[in-house]
Amino acid sequence: MLAYTYIKKGRFELLDKPKPQLKNAKDAIVRVTLGSICTSDLHIKHGSVPRAVPGITVGHEMVGVVEEVGTGVTTVKPGDRVTVNVETFCGECFFCRHGYVNNCTDPEGGWALGCRIDGGQAEYVRVPFADQGLNRIPDAVSDEQALFVGDVLATGFWAARISEITEEDTVLIIGAGPTGICTLLCTMLKRPKRIIVCEKSPERVRFVREHYPEVLVTGPELCKEFVLAHSEHGGADIVMEVAGADNTFRLAWECARPNAIVTVVALYDSPQILPLPDMYGKNLTFKTGGVDGCDCAEILRLIEAGKIDTTPLITHRFPLSEIEEAYRIFENKSDGVIKVAIG
Ligand SMILES: [Zn+2]
Ligand SMILES: [Zn+2]
Repeated sequence: MLAYTYIKKGRFELLDKPKPQLKNAKDAIVRVTLGSICTSDLHIKHGSVPRAVPGITVGHEMVGVVEEVGTGVTTVKPGDRVTVNVETFCGECFFCRHGYVNNCTDPEGGWALGCRIDGGQAEYVRVPFADQGLNRIPDAVSDEQALFVGDVLATGFWAARISEITEEDTVLIIGAGPTGICTLLCTMLKRPKRIIVCEKSPERVRFVREHYPEVLVTGPELCKEFVLAHSEHGGADIVMEVAGADNTFRLAWECARPNAIVTVVALYDSPQILPLPDMYGKNLTFKTGGVDGCDCAEILRLIEAGKIDTTPLITHRFPLSEIEEAYRIFENKSDGVIKVAIG
């Protein structure tokens, strides 16, 4: 089968590999019907994910059809259409039982797919802990509608959940890339009084204005003044930092009102400074981390009910045989790309 493979720093290649086999009783083999490319794939390509193993098949955003399951799998069966979770988790350890599945202590737990074990930019993928990692897609939901459930949309849902948003709040979201827009969609479900999106790319600003006209949009230079002018208490009640750019961490807490929650969703390339003297007396609460992708069933129900629609994010489509070109466009952010669908 065709499998897009991490060769070494700076190089991925489409190779012919054997089809994966079941290894454990809790595994499933999924035939990938649609996949995508995530910024984390680029981090692997650029060598900034040290635990990524050369030779592995990359890709951790995908949907497919179950081909085969191990004897210990109970929630899905061959023929089921499923979403695949970016995280593999045992469901039994201390962290899993508390919903902190990103911190699963099993050796195969956490972000393994397309990083430490073969992923889904391929025709087939082996998914460990299939009972936890696969969710059945309702018949009324298409592959494209479900494509981001296990990764970027799970991240946006998690970010909105931990940010404790109320209907009184002015929420600032910094960054309108794919994860930023998923965070926006999940924030909208909480019906805050006002949402402000800060984004520097004119194409992405246009995208937000076109699809979500009720949202206020500003650029990073004028963001602080804009938030002050559009909030009642000297800043945003909730700030979600999804950009991960050079100055956006500072921008996030600067735009927050006293006693605000600042949720850091972004993954930075370099350490960030937390200048406590500058924020003394502001009494901020910071929440940080990697997604706990444990709400996929609920997200699928919301999609089925028409409450979340991520299909406008799919701006480009390619067959697996042309994945090289898909990467070129995604990596260079050319042609107004937000997400690509591969399949
Ligand atoms: Zn990802
Ligand atoms: Zn666990």
